[in-house]
Amino acid sequence: MTARHAACACGRLRVSCEGDPVRVSVCHCLECQRRTGSVFGVSARFPKDRVAVEGTSTTWSRPADSGNDVTFHFCPTCGTTVYWRLQQFPDVIAVAVGAFADSSFPSPRHSVYERRRHAWARIAAPEPVQHLD
Ligand SMILES: [Zn+2]
Ligand SMILES: [Zn+2]
Repeated sequence: MTARHAACACGRLRVSCEGDPVRVSVCHCLECQRRTGSVFGVSARFPKDRVAVEGTSTTWSRPADSGNDVTFHFCPTCGTTVYWRLQQFPDVIAVAVGAFADSSFPSPRHSVYERRRHAWARIAAPEPVQHLD
């Protein structure tokens, strides 16, 4: 089975994921913009039993629009958010796609919070597009 490895910028917080992600998505919401410092976030969800974490993380939680918390795990040294947990979907772990540093990583098939999308930030061939504020 394929194993993929993600890491923070300094390499102290790492995750290994077995098999393919169950969902890869782009999110244009303002929270993802601020969290990443980029203009969208890209996440890959894996079944939690396929993900192994090494290293320590600091966490920060915020309520999602659903009312459920999202808890981000970031490196206490370099600050990179590597993965996060969704209270609404406890069986998965979401991993920041950029942390894999792998340009052949499976493409996003979902694009959410399109109304917050920067005009130039177009995602090639996403399937369902959710129009959330
Ligand atoms: Zn780090
Ligand atoms: Zn978002």
